[in-house]
Amino acid sequence: MQGIVTKIIPFSSVDGPGNRTAIFLQGCNLDCKYCHNPETRKRCINCGECVKNCPAGALSMENDQVHFDPTKCVSCDTCIKTCPHDSTPKASPMTAEAVFDIVKKQMPFIRGITVSGGECMLQPEFIRELFILAKDQGLGTLIDSNGTVPFGNYPELLEVTDGVMLDIKAFYDDEHKFVTGGSNREILENATYLGENGKLYEVRCVIAPDLYDCEKSVKATGEFLLPLYKHHPFRIKIIAYRPMGVRAEYSDMRVPTQDELSGYKDMLSEMGYEEIIII
Ligand code: SF4
Ligand code: SF4
Repeated sequence: MQGIVTKIIPFSSVDGPGNRTAIFLQGCNLDCKYCHNPETRKRCINCGECVKNCPAGALSMENDQVHFDPTKCVSCDTCIKTCPHDSTPKASPMTAEAVFDIVKKQMPFIRGITVSGGECMLQPEFIRELFILAKDQGLGTLIDSNGTVPFGNYPELLEVTDGVMLDIKAFYDDEHKFVTGGSNREILENATYLGENGKLYEVRCVIAPDLYDCEKSVKATGEFLLPLYKHHPFRIKIIAYRPMGVRAEYSDMRVPTQDELSGYKDMLSEMGYEEIIII
């Protein structure tokens, strides 16, 4: 089995506890207005548009497929800025073994691996193969997910998964649809399922005041999750919208103030949550 891998970050300190290797998979089923890496949304359709724009000759067409030569790439990002299909020519099919060969180079220095995206749960069997290899070597395994794919359908994946970092991008479904283009019904069901099974490692709320009623949403999210938290505590991350990498039409929205973010943290603290991180 091969996964479509966007990139691998050998050392990351922001994708779960400790130092981790983060593996990003290509393709997503939501369309968040504030997505800061929209080039991960779609699979490349080999249209060739990026090839003629690459200033370093790192891209070519071979047998009607775009070919990326990392040795020539100067990381200018022209290809992802000019791709008309929210994709990147740098994503490539890889086996779990090939990905793990890269992970192994960091083995003495990392606590685990995190698979993210795009939406990595669109490739659950690939994650499972990768996690089996990681567990075999004593590494921790986390999934970073938008929660739209039912985890209950993949019990064998959860057996080799330490925890899930789950986005709840708006609590009320109409607002969630406006912010992300999709319903949050499955996401809330996933939160319940993962929480009840002790697999919810972290819940993230993105604060974008121009898009939805953040205060009402954070409050409702906190109240909804509290019974789960009492059985299996998890951490909550309050993430401020920032314009970096965001598509031009959504790049001038208001960035929340530190006071607003602290207010949400205080609100959740008063409910009983202990580990709340603002970023
Ligand atoms: S990355 Fe985008 S522009 Fe380049 S070939 Fe693929 S779809 Fe076309
Ligand atoms: S980032 Fe893209 S456009 Fe820039 S050199 Fe690398 S492959 Fe070419």
